[in-house]
Amino acid sequence: MRVVLLGAPGAGKGTHCRRIVSQYDVLHLSSGDILRRERAEGTDLGKQAQSYMDSGTLVPDGLIVEMMSKAVKAAPGAGYVLDGFPRTVNQAEALDQSLADGESGIDVVINLQVDDDVVVERITGRRSCPKCGAVYHVKNMPPKQEGICDHDRAELVQRPDDTADVVKNRLATYYEQTKPVVDYYKAKRTVHDVDANGDADAVAALLFEKLDALSN
Ligand code: AMP
Repeated sequence: MRVVLLGAPGAGKGTHCRRIVSQYDVLHLSSGDILRRERAEGTDLGKQAQSYMDSGTLVPDGLIVEMMSKAVKAAPGAGYVLDGFPRTVNQAEALDQSLADGESGIDVVINLQVDDDVVVERITGRRSCPKCGAVYHVKNMPPKQEGICDHDRAELVQRPDDTADVVKNRLATYYEQTKPVVDYYKAKRTVHDVDANGDADAVAALLFEKLDALSN
């Protein structure tokens, strides 16, 4: 199954992608995670992406399209779930073009809908493990011991772009450049809207109801 998961920052794309991956055995292709890995490894791409990411603006389409086309082409036959890509109409068109050149298209587009105040609360309280990538929230999903990862005892960190100021920019960027991607898909195919304001289990129940129906 090939899924595109759309939604504002903080809509829960990462959390729900991890659940989709374990349920359907597909690959999680997160453009944000790939970029963070490139940065950690100090690659040219990582260096080029750095200033955009830290200010909450988008990395140029050319760099992203090349990076994600490679990842999609290398994905095994069981499929993938795209998280954070496409984030501009240009990227969506480039993805359609590269899939049209191959043999497999997107099966499902899901749009997680979330209110701005929920986004700000979720993102500014988010903490993650630099070692294993586990994600927590100081209130909604706290680790057993404050500030420490349950899995490997590493000290949790706040992503530099999860601060209140940067979140405002990321939301503005979302409305300007990424929301039109929802309209782009809606003009071409069914987009499944899911109310993502609730807690993770409630949202997952709504999401899997749709995905289970579509995958049968
Ligand atoms: P995320 O983890 O998906 O919130 O992404 C973190 C940051 O990486 C974003 O704020 C952008 O700077 C950059 N980024 C991730 N995905 C994309 C994309 N598809 N297009 C452009 N920039 C991206």
